[in-house]
Amino acid sequence: MRIGFIGLGNMGGPMALNLIKAGHALVVHDVRSELAKAYLERGAKAADNPRGAAQGAELILTSLPGPAEVESVALGERGVIHGAAKNAVYADLSTGSPRVMRTIHAAFKEKGIHVLDAPVSGGVWGAQRGTLQIMVGGDEALFHHLKPVFEAMGDKVAYMGEIGCGTIAKLVHNMIGICTRQVVAEAFTLGVKAGVRPEALLAAVKGGAFGQGLLLTQVLPEIVFKGDFDTVRFALRLARKDLGLATELAREFNVPMEMAALAEQTLIEALARGWGDKDFSAPFMLQEERAGVKVRT
Ligand code: NAD
Repeated sequence: MRIGFIGLGNMGGPMALNLIKAGHALVVHDVRSELAKAYLERGAKAADNPRGAAQGAELILTSLPGPAEVESVALGERGVIHGAAKNAVYADLSTGSPRVMRTIHAAFKEKGIHVLDAPVSGGVWGAQRGTLQIMVGGDEALFHHLKPVFEAMGDKVAYMGEIGCGTIAKLVHNMIGICTRQVVAEAFTLGVKAGVRPEALLAAVKGGAFGQGLLLTQVLPEIVFKGDFDTVRFALRLARKDLGLATELAREFNVPMEMAALAEQTLIEALARGWGDKDFSAPFMLQEERAGVKVRT
């Protein structure tokens, strides 16, 4: 396939390379024009601007820092919109904004150009190995048509819903990863300051229910999605006891634990609702109440 690829940075660089390896014909562009050299040596062509990269391409891909760059590369004066042919597809691989992707989708639609949002996860290592998770939003038939192309860059390519849904999924994913790091930082500083070696702590966390990934494989699909908080696997009153003991330990060792303290307040609120004998996932219902939405399949 003829592909215009814009943004040859840490992620875009290896993704473009994998597309070349899969036999696609690339026209590359990056504001840092020196980055194109490695691709020219592998048979790609270079364009001076996004419009040039889009001309004659069946698929145009961008991997750019964020929504501002994506908007200007897509819609700017020498943007993709001025080069892409009718029926071409523009897909953005960056982590951006659902609102911006919907704006671009609407503007491109007037010219008969299709748009997908297709942010990726898996880091530079995943981009190099072609093992990225790619979360795609937009027309479903188009997604199926282009899936084999995406599979040159990632081995987990999934359809998320209408335009913008890929980006929403990516933001949810990153929010979990980023916030979890903070909780893990609290937990490990507590564990180490209270006297356990980091390697021993890691082994304990890896081997336990959390480390086995039960939150994703059991709790979400079996409890939350089904709304089954009454079948008790681990009672909320016991979870509240454990978190209370952990924050007590943190006070003893002078370890600040902001995230744990907030979670403890939520557990207390859930207990005050009389949910002590429900499953310890029950506080999920408090957040559902605050957010005005239920997470059910
Ligand atoms: P990067 O800064 O290494 O690459 C971005 C590239 O875009 C650069 O080469 C830059 O020169 C180019 N660029 C910027 N503005 C441009 C413009 N107007 N026209 C043409 N080229 C332009 O960033 P990255 O780490 O490759 O990340 C790219 C996207 O992927 C980001 O949205 C990021 O959030 C996301 N992401 C990154 C990772 C990661 O681990 N690095 C993982 C998943 C997703």
